[in-house]
Amino acid sequence: MYIARILYPVEVLGPGKRIGIWFCGCPRRCKGCSNPELWEFQDRYKINFLTVKKLISQICSQNLVDGFTLTGGDPLFQYEDFRRLVDYLSNISEDILVYTGYTLEEISGKNLDKIAVLIDGEYIEERNNGCLLRGSDNQKIHIINDHLKEKYETYLLSAKNQIQNFATTDGYISVGIHRKEFQY
Ligand code: SF4
Repeated sequence: MYIARILYPVEVLGPGKRIGIWFCGCPRRCKGCSNPELWEFQDRYKINFLTVKKLISQICSQNLVDGFTLTGGDPLFQYEDFRRLVDYLSNISEDILVYTGYTLEEISGKNLDKIAVLIDGEYIEERNNGCLLRGSDNQKIHIINDHLKEKYETYLLSAKNQIQNFATTDGYISVGIHRKEFQY
């Protein structure tokens, strides 16, 4: 599988302190995408599932993890690996938030159980108006897991878009919902 980053604590893409996982691969090429470096499957981001599990387990053994945010790239572009990872993560937390460029209708045949929240749809730069948790207002937040409905409804009422910077081996990575003029 191809995963570019696993970061903790991500506090700007869902409630609490989360593990953020950035998948590679996205066929859409949205104008203004904040992660164009993740469109292709690059060899340096190839990683086996066991290593991903070990990294996540290591973070979880030393920290309080409130949930997971899967983004990219498009996690669903590597659907089989994505499903395998979601199955694993769901044993740790049921709070799994997933970003995808597909609309919910386009992936209606896929197995979305064990996903708590799906934020769907491509990024449309002209519709980037600062809406919470979403790059553009055509994207929708689907709370799939009823157990977490209240948690997310409360979060959505109180949260604000913020940016976090992480130091990585690739330099600084800026995480969060960026404004239209953001320069990567
Ligand atoms: S769907 Fe997301 S990752 Fe893919 S090009 Fe659009 S903004 Fe970038």
